[in-house]
Amino acid sequence: MGYILTREGFDKVLSELGRTYRLYAPVRKTGEGRFTDTDVIRYDFVNSVEEMELDQKSDYAFKEILTPLSETLFFFTESEVKTADRDAREAIIFVKSCDMHAVKRLDQIYLDNTFADPFYKEIRERVHFVLLGCPKSGEDCFCVDMGTNRTADGYWFSVDRTEDGGFACDVPEESLAELFEKNSAAEQRVEPKYVTENAVHVTIPDEIPSGIYKNSVWDEYSARCIGCGRCNFACPTCTCYTMQDVFYTDNGKVGERRRVGASCMVDGYTNVAGGGEYRRTKGERMRFKVLHKILDFKKRFGYQMCVGCGRCDRICPEYISFSACINKVNKAVEEMKEGEVN
Ligand code: SF4
Ligand code: SF4
Repeated sequence: MGYILTREGFDKVLSELGRTYRLYAPVRKTGEGRFTDTDVIRYDFVNSVEEMELDQKSDYAFKEILTPLSETLFFFTESEVKTADRDAREAIIFVKSCDMHAVKRLDQIYLDNTFADPFYKEIRERVHFVLLGCPKSGEDCFCVDMGTNRTADGYWFSVDRTEDGGFACDVPEESLAELFEKNSAAEQRVEPKYVTENAVHVTIPDEIPSGIYKNSVWDEYSARCIGCGRCNFACPTCTCYTMQDVFYTDNGKVGERRRVGASCMVDGYTNVAGGGEYRRTKGERMRFKVLHKILDFKKRFGYQMCVGCGRCDRICPEYISFSACINKVNKAVEEMKEGEVN
């Protein structure tokens, strides 16, 4: 069922939901961007529509609530282990279509992989999603080519602005029907808005020969990339983490274990005992990241990992473009094939 709400009506819906759920949405943080005169849009808890950034894409993804950057998993003593307490309240996260598709990738990695991760599962079972309509493409987005521009299900309700300052909501979640009915101005069929055209296009080769590993396409990234890892931390589908044991006592027998976000682009990620390092150059790390997103994940799970949100392009201090890199890989693959024919 669909509903048309005034701004006040929509705020009443949020206010009532906020009594039961934690509401988590993109928020514009004025002056907190990379430079003193720039803003950053990141996820935070909200109480009203006033606080939400509904139009522009967030710089950082929603994933921080599902996979916190630093998360205490359990506490330990010499003889006991106690799982860390969590906020037991359920949460509602407001996301655009590309991010709804990213949720599928996170679930794939954490729940439907070799085994289900119990810590992720516990958080995930308490999270619901609201689809933010997305009528206009961001400048770095390539969601249409990645097939993530549209979401047909999986959300509790959708939100689109109406021309007169109100909101149009599609509400498939039946338990919310009464709440929307009593706060809406009209009932009518609503279809969430979605982008149908991006300025950026990518072509991913159907097959990528192993010759790509030694191809010179990666060399420029050894010179340009500074290995800061911002692309990974902003990406809604990057899931790597590392473990930290923090000891409270000198004897090292009492403490806590934390799961902490990791990045395949930073120094130390591939260090192994004995001083070895599998990917020393930034070009090798870029190769690993890009081929994971457009080749290896698909080989294993049957669909692309990257959702084309463009956040990595937007966040990179060296203006390195992931979409441009995909197209360079495609060109290199075509040249390799031509070389085989001639
Ligand atoms: S690789 Fe870049 S474009 Fe693809 S999902 Fe991650 S941040 Fe978005
Ligand atoms: S954000 Fe840019 S410079 Fe930083 S690690 Fe990623 S590609 Fe390299």
